[in-house]
Amino acid sequence: MYSAKKILGLIGRNVGYSYSPYIHNTAAEILRLPYYYTIFNISSPDLVLPALEGAKALGIAGFNVTIPYKQTVIACMDKLSPEAEAVGAVNTVANDKGTIIGYNTDIAGIVTPLEPHKSTIDGQPAGIFGNGGAAMAAVEALGTLFRPSAIHLFVRNKEKGHDLCEQFQDRIFPTPLSIHPLDDYSILSGCKLVINATPIGTKGTDSGYNNCIVPPGTGAFHRNQIIFDMVYNPMETPLLQMAREAGAVTIPGIDMLIGQAARSFEIWTGKAMPIDSVRTKLEKLLETNQQLP
Ligand code: NAP
Repeated sequence: MYSAKKILGLIGRNVGYSYSPYIHNTAAEILRLPYYYTIFNISSPDLVLPALEGAKALGIAGFNVTIPYKQTVIACMDKLSPEAEAVGAVNTVANDKGTIIGYNTDIAGIVTPLEPHKSTIDGQPAGIFGNGGAAMAAVEALGTLFRPSAIHLFVRNKEKGHDLCEQFQDRIFPTPLSIHPLDDYSILSGCKLVINATPIGTKGTDSGYNNCIVPPGTGAFHRNQIIFDMVYNPMETPLLQMAREAGAVTIPGIDMLIGQAARSFEIWTGKAMPIDSVRTKLEKLLETNQQLP
């Protein structure tokens, strides 16, 4: 007898480019689990609530949520995990027998590749480019699970940056949180860890300096640093190339992509994702520039 698969999906706008279906379907196939992950493009925020009501009625098992709905979906949740509540953004939704629970697994995705560097990060200043949802997840991860001496946010919109500082300063006390313009290279060069949480560097876009958040020739990067770019396509972004040439340790966005996906997969299926096999297949797909199957 044919047994139907449980449905998972990604909610976003124009998300046909996403690697999440490939990651989750590969993992489910390897483990022979009855899940199928697909894409749900939602064209406007007012359709998010009806979409989630419909999903509940249909018994859809869970979702990932991406730009621009990570904050919008919060109003539709029956429950929020403590991380999602702290960051004010949901990237994973689980349907637990009709109760819709919102999680933030971006934090796990940030922590996983940073854990091996914990002793280097603790006690030293850290810098983050951006003040969006992923930057907030990075502040939460660093401020609650690591012990940097300070967190510097490099932002283009100081007002939004100030709002973020106000929201988080008490939560990550006693770590000081401060904001700086994008071109404060002297503070940047003093940061042991630098995280790019902006989309600059993404393949097919053209912003910043040759698609890099830092122009060439600043001398901001050196071999005593760890540079983590959340952008995962291409695997080596212009920022990571600059950092590697300066002798810094580099962390590619694919590490976070797999880390957050593994945590979401575990929430939905109760099983650990076969990370090494999934990563090998995804790297091959990214390296050879293959079209998504
Ligand atoms: P978001 O909420 O839209 O935030 C984007 C941030 O980037 C905002 O602070 C924005 O500044 C800033 N920004 C955008 N364009 C800029 C520019 N030209 N110059 C300076 N700053 C600019 O997006 P998000 O969810 O935080 O995601 C940020 C990036 O991380 C995206 O590329 C996303 O794909 C990536 N990401 C990767 C993973 C992974 O698993 N590897 C997970 C999550 C996110 P304003 O506030 O001034 O607009």
